[in-house]
Amino acid sequence: MIFDTHPGELFVVRNIANLVPAYTPDGVCHGVFAALEFAVQVLKVRHIVVLGHARCGGIRAFAEGGPPLSPGDSIHKWMSLIAPAVELAGPPEGDGDYLTRLERASIVMSLDNLLTFPYVAEAVRGSRLFLHGAYFDVATGRMFVHDGIGFTPMKVEPVSSEFEQSLGKHGN
Ligand SMILES: [Zn+2]
Repeated sequence: MIFDTHPGELFVVRNIANLVPAYTPDGVCHGVFAALEFAVQVLKVRHIVVLGHARCGGIRAFAEGGPPLSPGDSIHKWMSLIAPAVELAGPPEGDGDYLTRLERASIVMSLDNLLTFPYVAEAVRGSRLFLHGAYFDVATGRMFVHDGIGFTPMKVEPVSSEFEQSLGKHGN
């Protein structure tokens, strides 16, 4: 619905708190790494959108330092990936809602992490691949797009062409 696409048009990777870990060439078996490699090297996608969202339970659990979302240890370990975003977000007592800042900082962190993958960085340098950050509030239906500095609200009508423009023209 958000991207106004048909089934199969998007190659989607979903995970808790929409995180891309930094590249670690240590032989670790990682689903996000495999999906990224396939999307960029085989499908040759032109655009990668890191799409975060408001009221993220994973990010809230990390920020509040409370009990983990599940009895196991996987979510807690996974969420520790956002430690660099905590620095980006600034202190909890700063301006605006802290969880919103942290959710948005985690998107910026994932964009930075994407560039740690050598083949992603190379494709971006060659303008064959473009990275985008977006933040969606399910409750209000509002979408914000990262403009390189902050997140700016996207106009509501018409959703598809506005977003297409913000992503730039699709080439062949
Ligand atoms: Zn979430």
